[in-house]
Amino acid sequence: MGDFTALDPCVHCGFCLPACPTYLATHDEADSPRGRIVLMRALERGDLPADDPALRQHLDACLGCRGCEPACPSGVGYGRGLEEARRRIAAEAGLRPLARLTLGIFSRSSAWRVVFGAGRWLRDLGLAHLLTGSGRTGFAFGMLAATRPNPRGGVAAVPEAAAGPTVALFRGCVMDTLLGHVHDATRRTLAANGYRVVEAKGQRCCGALHDHAGDQAGAARLAQANLAAFGESADFIVVDSAGCGALLNDYGHLLGTESGRQFAGKVRDVTELLADRGPATGGALPLDVAYDAPCHLQHAQHVHRQPLDLLRSIPGLRLQELPGSDRCCGSAGIYSLLEPAMSRKVLDDKIEAIRGLTPRPDLIATGNPGCLMQIGAGLMAAGLETGVAHPVELLDWSYAAGGLYR
Ligand code: SF4
Ligand code: SF4
Repeated sequence: MGDFTALDPCVHCGFCLPACPTYLATHDEADSPRGRIVLMRALERGDLPADDPALRQHLDACLGCRGCEPACPSGVGYGRGLEEARRRIAAEAGLRPLARLTLGIFSRSSAWRVVFGAGRWLRDLGLAHLLTGSGRTGFAFGMLAATRPNPRGGVAAVPEAAAGPTVALFRGCVMDTLLGHVHDATRRTLAANGYRVVEAKGQRCCGALHDHAGDQAGAARLAQANLAAFGESADFIVVDSAGCGALLNDYGHLLGTESGRQFAGKVRDVTELLADRGPATGGALPLDVAYDAPCHLQHAQHVHRQPLDLLRSIPGLRLQELPGSDRCCGSAGIYSLLEPAMSRKVLDDKIEAIRGLTPRPDLIATGNPGCLMQIGAGLMAAGLETGVAHPVELLDWSYAAGGLYR
């Protein structure tokens, strides 16, 4: 069981406020990290019950993006405090019905495969793209349409590396059903850089959505299943979804076991493994690309340089870092489903930052399915021509153009 000690260093200075997207959206102290810490302390002391409406409203409105952590000079572990607060609220007051339903789907692969399989069918028929819009339903279709494989992709075979470290790909749920082409790009680019890619059977959802909602027991059950599935299958466990990677890296803490820590010690984001190898240089890709860092890569895993190094290694690619890249896009797992109004408010700032770029980028590169879908839908709703892609896809297209897969 956790506690709130990670919040102890807070001196209420307020330096974290300008880094918080929800505070910037509402200018309400209770929607800031400092205000939420006061609420969490009240929960801890029992001054506020777990079902207090204001407590729930302001903690539910937190994205869990941890953008406040690097802004804090005292080293407050805001994310750990939030995790404990949400665990207590879920245990004492229960999950919201929509959260319970959604997490129930993610707990069973038979359920999420049906849901996302139907989504993929709508997408592949072109219906999602046709129904895209700025209203709630149109935006949901936009998120689906944003997962379409880019026509530049589609190289068939995965080259085999004869020797080198073995890597087992973490497949996940959204990634495996809607973004399988990103997995293919991950396999190809790793093999082209000397990694032997192996499959670990019996994998489950990572449990991040359960963990963020306060259902640590549900997350731990999925984590145990993943420990059993991966076993000693590879030297590294590679992840191309920042949200999944953040929790896989935290399995030691979640499970409190040595096997959890050993599993976490093997987890690498795909950009880390590729950057370690150079990566190999491909052909020219004359595109304007802006990089937006996923919160769960930058703030939770502290991986920032590697995706930029990977993109800079691509000949002809003109790279800029999106201003405000350190700020959340409003996706945050199932947050966009549970808190749609705040999610869209936070996204609006991201879309305005993209609109202000000169030259206007062809693509926004970001390494997380939620961010790809949220930003992709936001761009479509705003009528902008800019698309979205995972950084590893860009490297893959460059390798195809340079003949590395022949
Ligand atoms: S979390 Fe850090 S930055 Fe924010 S008020 Fe507390 S000490 Fe200051
Ligand atoms: S986690 Fe994100 S939304 Fe929540 S208080 Fe920190 S910066 Fe604000």
